[in-house]
Amino acid sequence: MGRTFFITTLGCPKNVSDSRQMRRSLIREGYEPAGDPYSADYHVINSCAFIESAREETIQTVLEGADIKKGHPGQRLILAGCFTQRYQEAVNEELPEVDLSFGTGLYHRTGELLSQKFGSPPVHDAMEPSVFSGLEYDGQPYAPVKLSEGCDRKCSFCAIPSFRGSFRSRPEEEILEEIQELTAEGVREVCLVSQDTNAYGGDPQKILDLIARMHELPDLEWIRLLYMYPDARTRRFLEGWKFQDLPKLMPYLESPVQHASARMLKAMNRAGSRQQFADLFSLARQQAPGMEIRTSLLLGFPGESAADIDEIHAFLDECRPEKLALFAYSPEEGTSGFGLPNMAEAEATADIINEVRQHHLEILKEVHLGRQDQIYECMVDEIHPDGMVVRRKQDAPEVDEVIHIEFGSVSSDGPDTEDIYPGDLVDVKVTGFYEYDMMGELLPGGPAAHSARLKSGSGSPEQDMRVAAENAVTEKEGRA
Ligand code: SF4
Repeated sequence: MGRTFFITTLGCPKNVSDSRQMRRSLIREGYEPAGDPYSADYHVINSCAFIESAREETIQTVLEGADIKKGHPGQRLILAGCFTQRYQEAVNEELPEVDLSFGTGLYHRTGELLSQKFGSPPVHDAMEPSVFSGLEYDGQPYAPVKLSEGCDRKCSFCAIPSFRGSFRSRPEEEILEEIQELTAEGVREVCLVSQDTNAYGGDPQKILDLIARMHELPDLEWIRLLYMYPDARTRRFLEGWKFQDLPKLMPYLESPVQHASARMLKAMNRAGSRQQFADLFSLARQQAPGMEIRTSLLLGFPGESAADIDEIHAFLDECRPEKLALFAYSPEEGTSGFGLPNMAEAEATADIINEVRQHHLEILKEVHLGRQDQIYECMVDEIHPDGMVVRRKQDAPEVDEVIHIEFGSVSSDGPDTEDIYPGDLVDVKVTGFYEYDMMGELLPGGPAAHSARLKSGSGSPEQDMRVAAENAVTEKEGRA
């Protein structure tokens, strides 16, 4: 049996972090990454089972994996993660294409599990250079890092605690070690993720302490916190932030409220009220200049009335979150909300989502007008032959707005674009906007001095990143 593997990751940023743990375990055991699933000896799918559409995507990916396997005799298909954790029996009985499956608690033992099942990978040729220091280099200067696993809350729509288990914080040293490895690979921004971030260490001060220690890592530029439950702990975190000098912590609060009506929040078994959310967001805006807020709303929960939707609109007008995710309720077995009467028709929920989205887009348009002509320090995410994509401190990777810059628009006194790499920090003026994304102009001065230091010598992570980013674009264009 060969020794190459490819991991297909489905789902949220937490799964990206879990896939990295699997990858590390495989490499430790002697396996090697392949560039795609077609050339891999082991194709590992890290699955998602959050809601119906995620489950369908997992099954579809397994079926596609089975097709790939047919064209690559001897390849093994492995299904890991949430889907298996939740439906192990069904995987065994109904997905015979899967050669090995395991749940969420075993990511760190992936290599060992493969060796136990299929035999150890062939030993490396002693003359071959050690190919991997650790992580897959995918050209992105950012990475999610998990703070914890599981959740002790009992939101009535959410099945995650039933298969991810109770809340456990990761040891601080382990988190720091992972971040150190990532920065050695070229990552410049870390997004701290978990099911319930503000529960980390049982005390919001523990998160601040961890972030303070992360500031000591010289190559780490930006730190971002995601999934802060909107309750007293997040309030205490924000209050504590004021007293600590944490310049690498982004002015960004992601706090999913899920609804704004007291009646619906109670039915969802969620904390807070419209007034408390308004107070929390206003505190966040006071604590960090330039703060922008992302929240999410779950619509179509059983019993939702027109008056509840009015509360949502009032919440948007009052709190004006810059970023908003909208979800339609999907009944999940094993949750207390499953089987509740008065479930809304899917079409009616889709209409409401559309209406709420339009309302938010009006707010966003005003927000965009306020950003016009402003100068922001931005991280370079991607470079392609004609331009690049950069992101402000107020925007999380892959979910929020980005700024598109065309190289043709860079003036003669502007920076030499040949000297800019993913992960560099540059100053950008916003010159226009689309519905979500923005257009911008690169200002003279070029990337911050730190990147010049990092770019010395060939084959540096930044150079690899640039090549990887350019290849990714070429590949995309080739497929189009
Ligand atoms: S906080 Fe609620 S929605 Fe989030 S993982 Fe826990 S139970 Fe699910």
